[in-house]
Amino acid sequence: MSDKLQWVEDELRKLQEAGLYNRIRTLSSPQGAWLSVDGRQVLNFCSNNYLGLANHPRLVKSAKEAVDKYGVGPAAVRTIAGTMDLHVQLEQRMAAFKGVEAAITFQSGFNANLGTSPALVGIADVIFSDELNHASIIDGSRLSGAQIVRYNHCDPVDLEKALEEHRAKYPHALVVTDGVFSMDGDVAPLDKIYAVTKRYEAILMVDDAHGEGVLGRGGRGIVDHYGLHGKVDVEVGTLSKAFGVVGGVVAGNPLVVEWLRQRGRPFLFSSAMTVPDAAACLAAIDILEETTELVDRLWENTRYFKDEMQRLGFDTGQSVTPITPIMLGEAPLAQQFSQQLFENGVFAMAIGFPTVPRGKARIRVMISAAHKQEDLDQGLAAFAQVGRKLGVVS
Ligand SMILES: *Cc1c(COP(=O)(O)O)cnc(C)c1O
Repeated sequence: MSDKLQWVEDELRKLQEAGLYNRIRTLSSPQGAWLSVDGRQVLNFCSNNYLGLANHPRLVKSAKEAVDKYGVGPAAVRTIAGTMDLHVQLEQRMAAFKGVEAAITFQSGFNANLGTSPALVGIADVIFSDELNHASIIDGSRLSGAQIVRYNHCDPVDLEKALEEHRAKYPHALVVTDGVFSMDGDVAPLDKIYAVTKRYEAILMVDDAHGEGVLGRGGRGIVDHYGLHGKVDVEVGTLSKAFGVVGGVVAGNPLVVEWLRQRGRPFLFSSAMTVPDAAACLAAIDILEETTELVDRLWENTRYFKDEMQRLGFDTGQSVTPITPIMLGEAPLAQQFSQQLFENGVFAMAIGFPTVPRGKARIRVMISAAHKQEDLDQGLAAFAQVGRKLGVVS
């Protein structure tokens, strides 16, 4: 064997020694409050299935019926022959749900980000980016070739300083932020970011992956949460979290959407969302438009779990959303905690560097409307037991 990949082996060993090696568990059940993992039933505190839609009977039925009518694959990129009436309906329905003029779908939220920033800014331009933005925003920004100026996390004053210093040197500028930050569960001050951005002639883009189906009236997202309709140029979203399926969406200014149909590279060079995905997403919108019941239950569960965790003495960080980090500090402790939770029938992931900064390792609990109160109680009991054993709480 040649030595040219020896470094990979070395790096993998280092990850294992640092407690940062991803051990991927395999599920043999649908997504729900409980999962079958390695032959065991465990309580699911990991998924982004906020509303329990991933295995909802109406989504399943819609997908099956669509498969019977259209088959499974789109067989082409959207611009060649891959746009079915399902895709067009999905875009119209998404736009109406979000209260914007237009929307375009991508194969994933990641692809939506990879397609959007490079279409809006180029090598001569500038992007102002929250320092904790998601990897897909960072990669999309880098792909654009624009100068990237990072501003302090959720800090409109620092953003303004950055705009003041750099904006005038570039023809076009983009300000981009996560809506809900996926590791901390805090929410961007989008109203203040909008006010600052407006003064400097910059395009405003928010990635609402964890806000879609969660924030705003009936889960209409962060723009609705702040009442900023018509003011945010670009709302990136995902159909893989609260919507329970897979896919990405860009909603907002119709000019941006039209431009992405011409210049969004993952739109032009990668095939469309599949038939069952598009059909299931349509059923998800039906449900969200009919009732706020699932969104309401998600928030009730969130409040209950967080209050009880704090009462037990755990540090749940800055979260104001269903994303509940349990701050533990060092990565090996977080991994050990997660392992012992699993032995107690609770599946909750440890997250360490580089997903979060060094020294800020944590367990991230994802609350869902699918959880019943007794599920949450069982999870809380396991946290209390492991937390005492490992000396995290007394
Ligand atoms: C999850 C996530 C994405 C990626 O969404 P996918 O549809 O799973 O590709 C993009 N941005 C943010 C902020 C996310 O949390």
